[in-house]
Amino acid sequence: MSDATGKVNLLGLTQPQLERFFESIGEKRFRAGQVMKWIHHFGVDDFDAMSNIGKALREKLKASAEIRGPEIVSQDISSDGTRKWVVRVASGSCVETVYIPQNGRGTLCVSSQAGCSLDCSFCSTGKQGFNSDLTSAEIIGQVWIANKSFGTVPAKIDRAITNVVMMGMGEPLLNFDNVVAAMNIMMDDLGYGISKRKVTLSTSGVAPMIDKLGEVIDVSLALSLHAPNDALRNELVPINRKYPLAVVLDACKRYISRLGEKRVLTIEYTLLKDVNDQPEHAAQIVELLQDVPCKINLIPFNPFPHSGYERPSNNAIRRFQDLLHQAGHNVTVRTTRGDDIDAACGQLVGQVMDRTRRSERYIAVRELSETPTVMQRRQTNLN
Ligand code: SAH
Ligand code: SF4
Repeated sequence: MSDATGKVNLLGLTQPQLERFFESIGEKRFRAGQVMKWIHHFGVDDFDAMSNIGKALREKLKASAEIRGPEIVSQDISSDGTRKWVVRVASGSCVETVYIPQNGRGTLCVSSQAGCSLDCSFCSTGKQGFNSDLTSAEIIGQVWIANKSFGTVPAKIDRAITNVVMMGMGEPLLNFDNVVAAMNIMMDDLGYGISKRKVTLSTSGVAPMIDKLGEVIDVSLALSLHAPNDALRNELVPINRKYPLAVVLDACKRYISRLGEKRVLTIEYTLLKDVNDQPEHAAQIVELLQDVPCKINLIPFNPFPHSGYERPSNNAIRRFQDLLHQAGHNVTVRTTRGDDIDAACGQLVGQVMDRTRRSERYIAVRELSETPTVMQRRQTNLN
């Protein structure tokens, strides 16, 4: 739990972990609750600001612990209220966090890894390769930073962040322990008090980890489907070759049935022009999901340079939605928000210090074009 400074970073500790920490330094467990409130409700990172903790204990804490969020590289606010932060994590990479206010809700989209090893064909994060898993402090630190930007507890009776989705950069189930710890802090009343229904983990389908997740937590689950048959899904979501549709959907059904209380799986489906947006794909989806309690969220593809894909026309999107709707599905189309700050799904690029050679290969293809791409311009801006 301690880092390069040799101090324990209390930001990423769950309540039981923080209680154990206090015991380990010879203090009472109830201190954990006091300190969690200071950190998460009041956004404090200075032990001296903790007025209900005596000077001696504050000094002891300063010697062995710290409260340290990821470093903020930039913060942008879009004309539509969307906010985006780029933060630098310990590995040196940058990741992105996005806040989207809509219909009385405030949804924070949080990253779990710097880059992603899974390389879905239409995802710009995947094209960046993979650098590191975020620590629990780096994951909850994104919520901490966003929450602080709205002021502290007395000023926010109307909570700004009502929902959290693990839909930023990375595959959350491949950074299991840290993601679970961070989600526990999100739901804890001493943390952010967000209901389990309003914390959603999105996965591309790491089937065994879906079962493991069900053993430890009861957050909402979203599956990135993107294709209704294995041949096409193998192409778009390569992890499908390891865990094909039947295996992954079974794991999702087991997860959802454990939750009970009429909770359903969210299916995410990125619509790619002429690739997965045809009437026959809609028909296959209906067949595939006939016994899966779910709601479907269509995400029109958000283009990025040299992706090789296009967004379908609005008519094609509406036709696809209608076909699913007529078959009895609850279907929504995700509207693109924060366009002016590049905050849309799949446009989260950050700045990954790639450990794989994937980004090199991708950049080689990009460089065939003479005009600087949006990603190249953004990377320069971050330097
Ligand atoms: N790795 C996880 C969570 C992060 S991706 C997952 O794949 O589920 C969050 C969502 O954005 C996923 O459904 C993903 O497929 C989608 N997405 C990725 N790139 C996109 C793009 N260019 N346009 C639209 N959606 C995209
Ligand atoms: Fe990774 Fe999700 Fe992007 Fe696939 S869609 S490459 S799993 S972040």
